[in-house]
Amino acid sequence: MKFDWLIVGAGFTGSVLAERIASQLNQKVLIVEQRDHIAGNAYDYYDEQGILVHKYGPHIFHANAQYIWDYLAQFTEWRSYYHQVLGVVDGKEVPIPFNLNTLSALFPSHYAEKLSQQLIEEYGFNVKVPILKIRETAKNNDLKFLADYIYDNVFHKYTLKQWELKPEELAPSVTARVPIYISRDNRYFQDSYQGLPKHGYTALFRSMLNHPNIKVLLNTSYQEIMNDIQYKRMIFTGPIDEFFEHTHGELPYRSLDFKFHYTEQDQMQAVGTVNYPNEYNYTRITEFKHLTGQRSYGSSYIEEYPQAYKRGENVPYYPIPKDEYKELYKKYQQEAEKLKGEVLFAGRLAEYQYYNMDQAVARALHLFKNLTGF
Ligand code: FAD
Ligand code: UDP
Repeated sequence: MKFDWLIVGAGFTGSVLAERIASQLNQKVLIVEQRDHIAGNAYDYYDEQGILVHKYGPHIFHANAQYIWDYLAQFTEWRSYYHQVLGVVDGKEVPIPFNLNTLSALFPSHYAEKLSQQLIEEYGFNVKVPILKIRETAKNNDLKFLADYIYDNVFHKYTLKQWELKPEELAPSVTARVPIYISRDNRYFQDSYQGLPKHGYTALFRSMLNHPNIKVLLNTSYQEIMNDIQYKRMIFTGPIDEFFEHTHGELPYRSLDFKFHYTEQDQMQAVGTVNYPNEYNYTRITEFKHLTGQRSYGSSYIEEYPQAYKRGENVPYYPIPKDEYKELYKKYQQEAEKLKGEVLFAGRLAEYQYYNMDQAVARALHLFKNLTGF
């Protein structure tokens, strides 16, 4: 069979592009996916106890752009959900991102009040300030104390666990994802659209890929078949350095080991995720029922243990946002440009970008628009 497109990877990037090309251009697409399932890292499934779990760590959809939410709403109903996270600091479970409620939970009330007033005077109310910025700009001794306290108790050890780097050794955008929030809003995200697909991510993908012009080949890496398949153009959503056989050296990634557990308790923690910045080797525990709203006997949860990525041994989950790796990525980007559009590179691994799901979808829709003018 002849295909117009060979798409490598059935995650959000590859699947959105496949859907658009199939439905809007009426062209034939083969998606080749090395795993035994669609949905990339958003894949979910019912575990032995019948509880819907996320195989590659907790995935909460959040977006500010309505067009992204509406686009996906063609393939799923949404369950509204506001993610909440508590972090264990000084033995107490306190709201994360660090906000004015966190101050009240950790400090005597008169001191919490004083610090709150100073934060508001210095930065304003309902404002998000990255920890590295507060550390740089804190003027008086109280704010300096607070900045050091938050850095030491929330960011320093968590970041060492997650990245084996200190916060200041990474691009500032990494810790800015979880800024100090000068407000009393305990939600993890403030995006206008937040939720999970009502019947899960895998069901969403099944619906998105259900088109006569789309064929999906699972359990197959593109290297195994690319010489046997006839296609005109390729979209690659795997690691870009792998595509070019690491000619400029390996791009580093971070990986994770996920440990799943089940408890007969109806609920084992108060909110969806509890972060452990200071204790244990895992960074966080997520209990799925909070996210999915599923009612069931017992509850399933997941611990995330960060680890170095070793090619062939584990999965490259996170590109590492750091200047020197960006330089290395640029060399691969230049190789990609030499292919003059014969192969297009998109997604978290192919662009070496710390994309959230909404950004991966936006990137795919944008690329499609550029291809076609649609
Ligand atoms: P992927 O989902 O990684 O898909 C790429 C696919 O390509 C994979 O299935 C891979 O197997 C396949 N592939 C690679 N190489 C080959 C090859 N050689 N041959 C065949 N197939 C290949 N985002 C959010 O918005 N909210 C969250 O709460 C959230 N939580 C996250 C938690 C964790 C632990 C992680 C790791 C990520 C999280 N994300 C979250 C980010 C989200 O997973 C990504 O934005 C999204 O998966 C990116 O989609 P993608 O298609 O670019 O990549
Ligand atoms: N972070 C931290 N302490 C926390 C939460 C986050 O130090 O309690 C830092 C850490 O460096 C982490 C980054 O902020 O990698 C981004 O956190 P996020 O929750 O967005 O990570 P992800 O969900 O992408 O793993």
